Amino acid sequence: MQVLSVCIVILFSLLSTVCAFSADANDWAPTAADELRAIRNNAESPARKQPVTVLPALAQDRVGLVRKVQIDTSDRPIALTFDLCELATVTTGCDMQTIAFLHDNRIPATFFAGGKWMRTHAKRMKQMLSVPFFEFGNHAWTHGNCALLSSRGLRAQVLWTQAQYELLREEAIEQGGRPDIPPVPTLFRLPYGRCTKQALTEIAALGLTVVQWDIVAERGAVRTEDAARRYAASLVKECAPGSILLFHANRVPTGTALLVREVVSKLRAENWRFVTVSELLTLGRPVLVEDGYFTRPGDNIALDKKFGRDGTGSRVRFEGE
Ligand SMILES: [Zn+2]
Repeated sequence: MQVLSVCIVILFSLLSTVCAFSADANDWAPTAADELRAIRNNAESPARKQPVTVLPALAQDRVGLVRKVQIDTSDRPIALTFDLCELATVTTGCDMQTIAFLHDNRIPATFFAGGKWMRTHAKRMKQMLSVPFFEFGNHAWTHGNCALLSSRGLRAQVLWTQAQYELLREEAIEQGGRPDIPPVPTLFRLPYGRCTKQALTEIAALGLTVVQWDIVAERGAVRTEDAARRYAASLVKECAPGSILLFHANRVPTGTALLVREVVSKLRAENWRFVTVSELLTLGRPVLVEDGYFTRPGDNIALDKKFGRDGTGSRVRFEGE
């Protein structure tokens, strides 16, 4: 009888170990909470507004925005970047099909996350922070348009995001995450690609390098595998060593996961090497410009009128209060 009970206990503990393992493994699967607008909007400011880690200002010759990196060797590095945008007025989603694909295939990627998005998707954010080949950049608190924000508003959009990242990083480490998660992001991506010279100077003074893209990967909805294949084939022809590709992982454009699979498969077949933006910056000379357009100079100016007073979606100007 005693032997039987011991056997049952061992069997149960084995089963629970197997179940716990599969639960962890399945954690990357999409859930209802990852859908667009699944989580109620919270427009409050973050619990911490000033980051503990303050970055030193960038040198004067690094003021500007990086469009791509000039590579002078035969190396073929390329950076896949994913914006996680969220305005003050709505919540966006978390594209776990795309993120799980990158994770499962060990593909280095850089995510530019809005501070409010990080809080909306706190559990996912902590999970992603645990992945050493995922890098996080700052994408402003509520997607503020840096060409329209006041100096004070711009500062708060950047610093609130740094502080929110710190809070989640601390929680992730407390909950058993890797201890070497970077203290704060060092890269910034301009919402809408919009800025002024003054904004670039102010962001550089906060110690962040502005990184945009030279290739806009999503240019419309991708609904079928066949469409993704055709589309990826033309996209891959545009890639150059040091290119930075813009995607989104907040479920706003349709079909990103299909497209990413195809782009990755084609680039891998041609021996391109995926790296994070930080690594890419160490491999060559950053090409610095002063305008964050999408594909042609000026193609994003019309966006100034579409998303509230200052890009945050709100009719009230964001001043960081
Ligand atoms: Zn964005």
